[in-house]
Amino acid sequence: MHRLQLSIVVPCYNEAETLPLLHQRVSATAHAVVGDDHEIVLINDGSRDDSWRIMQQLAAADPRVVAINLSRNHGHQLALTAGLDLCCGEQILILDADLQDPPELLGEMREVMAREEADVVYAVRRKREGETLFKKATASAFYRVLDRVTDTPIPLDTGDFRLMTRRALDAFLSLPEQARFIRGMVAWVGFRQVPFPYDRAERHAGETNYPLSKMLRLAFDAVTGFSTAPLRFASHASVALAGASLLLLFYIAWGYFRGSPVQGWTSTMLVVTVLSAVQMFVLGMIGEYLGRLYIESKRRPLYLVADIAGPVRARASLGY
Ligand code: UDP
Ligand code: MG
Repeated sequence: MHRLQLSIVVPCYNEAETLPLLHQRVSATAHAVVGDDHEIVLINDGSRDDSWRIMQQLAAADPRVVAINLSRNHGHQLALTAGLDLCCGEQILILDADLQDPPELLGEMREVMAREEADVVYAVRRKREGETLFKKATASAFYRVLDRVTDTPIPLDTGDFRLMTRRALDAFLSLPEQARFIRGMVAWVGFRQVPFPYDRAERHAGETNYPLSKMLRLAFDAVTGFSTAPLRFASHASVALAGASLLLLFYIAWGYFRGSPVQGWTSTMLVVTVLSAVQMFVLGMIGEYLGRLYIESKRRPLYLVADIAGPVRARASLGY
């Protein structure tokens, strides 16, 4: 297969307004850094706006654009997976379509990669412009909780914006899971990975496609994909509850010998409600893992490609 020096992979969902400027900025940067020897892989993740039509126009006008149209909206992480599957660069830059991650940083990231002999240069958000306090606070809390419960050291405050070498990407592509938390999977792969601090810009146009529900889902995928700590919660809780029940036993015996055994509606209700809450929580956690096991066991394709515009250089993976 013919390899290019650089692939820039951009998943897009309803980004019609931004696409022309995105192409202009990415193309200018790529030309300045590696000349013609690059490709821009745009993935249309089932957008409901004009994104696909604009991508086709870009692909018709610029032979370095490869536009991939997924069969429907598969979600950010799977759209990105499709692009990574189909790109053929020796170095791969992952970018968000909304220009929150400045493509112009490519040159500096390549310098860091060369200097540090790294396989992954991941961008760490120093500042986040134009995002709500709520989003910043929840994101920050999430990364810290995740760091505590997982065994894989997943870098804090890091999105998917990163530069990778082909061998790191191939290692990543060998991980088959359906529930994909890409920044964690890349961390799991290993090799030499170095941080690259940057200031995150505001969205160029449109609204975030990550409402709270999608963020929670990603968070669950992250925790369940990288840790079994929630499953161990039951055994930890049982030790604490055994201690508590021993104390209660002494208390009841004491009451019995003082001659007042029948009493304590309050304490009974307390024990019943606390215990059922704990049990429900544990059951829910088991259900969460079981559900994921079920989905993985179906072994469905990760994504389906409907159309491709532009040259297909990589093995034409259609997801199945
Ligand atoms: N995206 C996607 N599919 C989706 C949702 C988002 O491909 O279902 C893309 C989106 O076009 C953008 C990137 O994923 O390029 C990040 O999404 P967004 O900017 O909405 O997330 P945020 O930056 O607010 O976390
Ligand atoms: Mg964004």
